[in-house]
Amino acid sequence: MPTFSRTLLLAGLLATAATATASPVANPFELPKCQIPPGIIITQCRKPGVMALGYDDGPYTMTLELVDMLDAAGAKATFFWTGTLYGCIYDHVDAIKKAYASGHQVASHTWTHPITLDQMSKAELTEEMEKLENAFANILGIRTNYMRPPYLMTGGEVMPTMGELGYKVITLDLDSGDWDGVTTAAESARRFEEAGTSGRGHIPLVHETYESTVRELTPWIIEWAAQNNLELVTIADCLDDPSGPYVTVNATGDGQMTC
Ligand SMILES: [Zn+2]
Repeated sequence: MPTFSRTLLLAGLLATAATATASPVANPFELPKCQIPPGIIITQCRKPGVMALGYDDGPYTMTLELVDMLDAAGAKATFFWTGTLYGCIYDHVDAIKKAYASGHQVASHTWTHPITLDQMSKAELTEEMEKLENAFANILGIRTNYMRPPYLMTGGEVMPTMGELGYKVITLDLDSGDWDGVTTAAESARRFEEAGTSGRGHIPLVHETYESTVRELTPWIIEWAAQNNLELVTIADCLDDPSGPYVTVNATGDGQMTC
């Protein structure tokens, strides 16, 4: 074949490939992925067969232990971390890096975990978010896409501000109750059984700051999920979010590693 017509043929093939990429044939067995809009409250996964554990209030002294346990089970989780709730976030750099490197999702739970969240101004809320993003940029070089408001407060300026800042706001559809001071790990486990494994995946609320949650409830959840063919995934994964868990993985902070 002369070089000329071979070139033409190649060009034709490339054009066909480009057209195919531009308008993919719909796969009837897979729901189309759609963008998850910021500024609305998300309580549940978009697909069945998964569960997305959301651990609040760390980093904490048990973070590394929890990450090792999840990793050993091939499980993924989402960590809603704060800057200063239990000491300073920079005191847990090793655990934070390990969790991120293991593929767990890093997300925001505000800088100080304020009990007055729903009374704060937009400027105050923005500062709560930006200070923590600066720490994530300093430690991991990321900027996050997801947040869970402390005390699940979504009133006042919280939702408009999170929407403007581009955050996807997660609450829950399954409360382990581990935070209330009376619910035992066994009682929390019962709540998981009651919620069941059918239908769209759950987004439970759990805390990595309670020994019973880390050492009793989490091993139980891992076992229960395995028995029920439930895959433990990150929240961005359980939502099939095409934009993923992070705005960028090339963020630069101010380099100040102090709270
Ligand atoms: Zn919290």
